[in-house]
Amino acid sequence: MLAQRYRVWPGRQARHNGHVPAPSPQLDPAIADRLKRDAAGLFPAVAQQYDTGEVLMVGWMDDEALRRTLTTGRATYWSRSRREYWVKGDTSGNLQLVRSVSLDCDGDTVLVQVDQVGPACHTGSRSCFDGRRLPVTVIDPPRARDARRADAAEPARGAQP
Ligand SMILES: [Zn+2]
Repeated sequence: MLAQRYRVWPGRQARHNGHVPAPSPQLDPAIADRLKRDAAGLFPAVAQQYDTGEVLMVGWMDDEALRRTLTTGRATYWSRSRREYWVKGDTSGNLQLVRSVSLDCDGDTVLVQVDQVGPACHTGSRSCFDGRRLPVTVIDPPRARDARRADAAEPARGAQP
């Protein structure tokens, strides 16, 4: 029973069982090697609601924020303004419970799929992007017939030297 709970909240285990935490844990080097950081050692993290696909917010992480996000069950960011780690929901109660984390193809952005409790945005909107649309020019996708024709032409193009 307890073990079950500890599996969900691994961060709590260290505090509750009285053991001294391992000295300065580090992000798995195999993961760290794949990361591309900006000059400040940071990379953007996109938070997405895991079941609806909703894009919730974008924050910044460093290696340690990513390590905490991967191991504590809670999305953790680096606040560039306060210059400190920020566990989403610690002050607001609007937790982000981590469901999965992916690196993008270039290794310079992280996608954090979460179960967002309450609004993700500090303004109180569910997502940071809600109600903030900009005007865009919209074009229709190619008609299905044109798409099929393009597909059919693909092998022929590929066959030419
Ligand atoms: Zn926001």
